[in-house]
Amino acid sequence: MQTSSHEIHKLLRALPSIDRLLGTDEGRALVAEYGRSLTLTALRTTLAETRHAIQNGRTPTITPSALAHATRQWLASLTSPTLIPVINATGVIIHTNLGRAPLSSAALTAIQAVAAGYANLEYDLEAGGRGSRTTHAARLLAELTGAEDALVVNNNAAAVLLMLTALCQGREVIISRGQLVEIGGGFRVPDVMAQSGARLVEVGTTNRTHLRDYEAVIGENTAAILVAHHSNYKIVGFTTEPSLAELAELAHAHNLPLLYDQGSGALLDTTAFGLEAEPTIQASLQAGCDVVTFSGDKLLGGPQAGILVGRSELIAQIKRHPLARAVRADKMCLAGLAATLRPYLTGQAVQEIPVWRMISQTETEIAAVAEQWSRKLTQNNIPAEVIAGVSTVGGGSLPGTTLPTRLVAISHPNVDDLAARLRQNTPPIIGRIQNEQLVLDPRTVLPEQVNALLNGLISHACSK
Ligand SMILES: *Cc1c(COP(=O)(O)O)cnc(C)c1O
Repeated sequence: MQTSSHEIHKLLRALPSIDRLLGTDEGRALVAEYGRSLTLTALRTTLAETRHAIQNGRTPTITPSALAHATRQWLASLTSPTLIPVINATGVIIHTNLGRAPLSSAALTAIQAVAAGYANLEYDLEAGGRGSRTTHAARLLAELTGAEDALVVNNNAAAVLLMLTALCQGREVIISRGQLVEIGGGFRVPDVMAQSGARLVEVGTTNRTHLRDYEAVIGENTAAILVAHHSNYKIVGFTTEPSLAELAELAHAHNLPLLYDQGSGALLDTTAFGLEAEPTIQASLQAGCDVVTFSGDKLLGGPQAGILVGRSELIAQIKRHPLARAVRADKMCLAGLAATLRPYLTGQAVQEIPVWRMISQTETEIAAVAEQWSRKLTQNNIPAEVIAGVSTVGGGSLPGTTLPTRLVAISHPNVDDLAARLRQNTPPIIGRIQNEQLVLDPRTVLPEQVNALLNGLISHACSK
């Protein structure tokens, strides 16, 4: 029914004033909680929205308590965090959209310790004067990888940009056409190279590049040979690429460095876990790479970081470049990274680092957990069953390789609706939809989240 203009007028005039709302108990409570200035903004917004609704013929409740309630909702939504923990039941271990690697408890403790107060970030405790932040993770990285020196920056995209800018600006970098890939999230190898001011010299074809293709274009303006890991992309069939060792030999014969964007930061042999071979950082350096770059938060299992390891004179040249200052790592990153690296040295990485714990979980172990969840859900009248499936490593590493897993599959008359409701749970539950069922992979669910997961499922999957 259409509201008459007379009624609209009446409603508008009946709207309480800001002062009146501020004077109510609810108004005073809002001021105490959110401060006067923000509460005023919120009240003005609520009144403006209410006025707008009335002018459009609607009849909102305009009692002071209803308006205060709406104001409280606006304030709560503005001030509540938007970045919150979620339950990753997708089975994708390094899920870039879900924040990549969960940290080890040692990394969390180390971050908390340096973040809560002051730290010797750039202070030499022996000399009692200025020190360098680059020392903190460097020794561990050198020991682990066999590199002469290391530098940690904000992320691997920054590491690649910095490496090329510092070592190759204004000169030529040779790269195979098969490696001009987009990694995702807008990281395209050729674009980053262009930003660095290095000139790209593409050789070979998408599927086949030979050593002689590289050799043919080496000239006096060549600064380096670059290899970029294919990452999330796989070239299969009639393919060839020279090995790192062959490229290193060629580069060194011409006095050029071989630079390698390895990406994933694998320090352990992935084949020991039933995965395809991923080149480790150690093996890449041993093969003769002069600088290798990789992420801290992929297979390494640490905080977001970009790590450069390699020959000391090249790392020194990279450290000296002004861009290094712009992409430097902060104290939380350095503390978390160092704490993540330590268990690799002591042979405890698989037990300590969540990413590796997840990778190394056996199908039998996962099946036991899945059966437990399924029983609990069935007891609560949720049609759940355990089915075979696959988990993936994700994070742009190991495309096409999967780990066998067991999934808890839930049937529901409206599975999209169920998935949407689970995303609104506290904490949000992210699963996958497969064959009209909602499937949950226990591999990527942290043990401390299991209760929240089951409670969330019980409250949302039951109430159809
Ligand atoms: C992931 C990846 C990057 C980007 O690393 P970020 O740490 O996300 O910046 C660059 N190169 C390769 C080969 C990668 O796999």
